[in-house]
Amino acid sequence: MNHPELCRRVTEKLMRTIFHLDLDAFFVSVERIVDPSLNEKPVVVGADPKYGRGVVAACSYEARDYGLHSGMPIKQAYRLCPNAIYVHGSHGEYGRFSKAVKYILSKYAPQIEQASIDEFYMDFTGCTHIYGPLFMFASKLQKEIWNTLKLPCSIGIARNKTIAKIASDFMKPRGVTYVLPEMEKEFLAPMPAESMPGIGKETLKHLHHKGFYTLGDIAGVKEDYFSAAFGKYGTDMWRKANGQGSEYLSLPADQKSISHERTFHQDEMNKCYVESILFKLTGKVCQTLRNNDWQASTITIKLRYSDFVTITRSKTIKQTDDDRVIFRTASEMLRKAYNRRVAVRLVGLSLTKFSPFSEQQKLFESAEERREKMLSAVSVIRSKFGFDSIKVGSF
Ligand SMILES: [Mg+2]
Repeated sequence: MNHPELCRRVTEKLMRTIFHLDLDAFFVSVERIVDPSLNEKPVVVGADPKYGRGVVAACSYEARDYGLHSGMPIKQAYRLCPNAIYVHGSHGEYGRFSKAVKYILSKYAPQIEQASIDEFYMDFTGCTHIYGPLFMFASKLQKEIWNTLKLPCSIGIARNKTIAKIASDFMKPRGVTYVLPEMEKEFLAPMPAESMPGIGKETLKHLHHKGFYTLGDIAGVKEDYFSAAFGKYGTDMWRKANGQGSEYLSLPADQKSISHERTFHQDEMNKCYVESILFKLTGKVCQTLRNNDWQASTITIKLRYSDFVTITRSKTIKQTDDDRVIFRTASEMLRKAYNRRVAVRLVGLSLTKFSPFSEQQKLFESAEERREKMLSAVSVIRSKFGFDSIKVGSF
């Protein structure tokens, strides 16, 4: 390997490359797919202006030209732009499109952290040799999302998450901004203080009061001085204004566990009832699991007797997000563990050892099939404990 090549590889190893992809006016973009007559018109998704309460959830760039922005009271929006088209929002569709975007991203990104319904962080560190120059690659990704789903997005690329997020906002809509390593401070300096994520109205007032208008103003003073004025949060703000930030994504493996427990009002002797509560807890933890598109492999139950003797039992099985498998494993452990003639005070269930649920697996298992599995588990319980032991949808 020649010297420049070696240098490139070593540098690339050291430099994190984080993408922040933000869908442009996401709710409006989805509404326009559903109803193309909304194209090129000022569109507001949010509360009904006739009732005068509530806020703007999202608005099109045409509506932004009238001074509208998300979070604005709907009354005020209506006063500024009565000719806009006000729609309530198709929430099911938003989730569906968000998943479709994630599916495209998961074909390329080694790691994805979904920050919200329309925001994704991806770690492309060391991927130049696979995808070529990453600025060009980001444009390709943008085009693929547009061509496949007709959703516009902006991408920010930087060494850490904070700067990538600020960068994705920099050239909206349909922008790609790459903040080169070592250029972070120059990029941030002229930006207004509020462009930093997490700076709200109150903090901004406080900052202005002390003469800090741009991120450069913040970065220009000593850390000690700034921390003294703004406390613990100040240190974080100062560091971010100086181009620092988290270089690693929060991935499923970082979350240690999902758990739920129930303490009984009266100590409980009825084993069947305790088991039916365990079933409800299973529904809850599995829902959280599926909301995150994860699977778990270790299942732990907790049982506390009325004399406060507490037992935990764990079992590791093949990765799953299936209520039925998890409940079967948990209830077997419960039956074995509950061997004293003493009432129970608390029962708990927790899942650990997560992994992302792969998109491929999902293709082979439709929502219908999953619901069927859940319902068959429900019917097993009902046949044992009676119809009222379980309310479908209530857990
Ligand atoms: Mg967005």
